[in-house]
Amino acid sequence: MTDAHPPTATTPNALLDTLWRFLRGDMTTSEFEGWTYETPALEALLGPDLYLAVVSTFFSNPEEVDKTRDILERFAREQTDMRCECITLRSLDVVDMGHHEHIFKTLDKLASRGPQYWWLSIEVCRECTQPWLIASEERQNDVFCMRRLSTEEHALFLESGTWPSDFDSYGRLLEIGREAGRSVRWVAPLEAGSVRETIADLAKERPGIGLSELCSLLNLDAQTITTIVEDISDDRNIRVDLQK
Ligand SMILES: [Zn+2]
Repeated sequence: MTDAHPPTATTPNALLDTLWRFLRGDMTTSEFEGWTYETPALEALLGPDLYLAVVSTFFSNPEEVDKTRDILERFAREQTDMRCECITLRSLDVVDMGHHEHIFKTLDKLASRGPQYWWLSIEVCRECTQPWLIASEERQNDVFCMRRLSTEEHALFLESGTWPSDFDSYGRLLEIGREAGRSVRWVAPLEAGSVRETIADLAKERPGIGLSELCSLLNLDAQTITTIVEDISDDRNIRVDLQK
């Protein structure tokens, strides 16, 4: 017999886990809506009143969804042993430096990648054992990019030292910051050494990168970028397409 539709896990822990996936943003509202209708076992977990409130939510109304999300988050926090914040983080998340202590206090560094990838580390939560790939993007947006690692990825790293490649590109970190709505405002970009370093690295990582893409990634105007590129391209192997 083939089992094309394996039964949805309905143990309280599995249900709570799915609830958290919605709350932290790893599950879309419509996926969550579908799941609530398909999962009658949810009533036993939530109790009749909360269950009714959830299934009668008008999911196409963002305000109603926000309200339901707030109630569910309160419930989920009560039901969860919150000794760490891992469960509240998206599988790919961005955490602002300076607002990261409550998350990082349970993380232990397993490894740093080393000089060529100075921004990369793998950290493991000592409370829930969740491993994270972490990039410290401290040149532009001052954020930590975090990616939940699977058991397999963690095991592979322990066995062979294989690093997941998601955050190898510094340009990718800037894109992730941009997608998360981070855009630093430089007061004196021409004097900031880190801007020069970032432009130089991006031009090496992506030879021929366009001026407009640099403007977007670094949140700087074309004149400023052009000035810096002209300044640093003399003594380095920098290729930027100033017409693009
Ligand atoms: Zn944890």
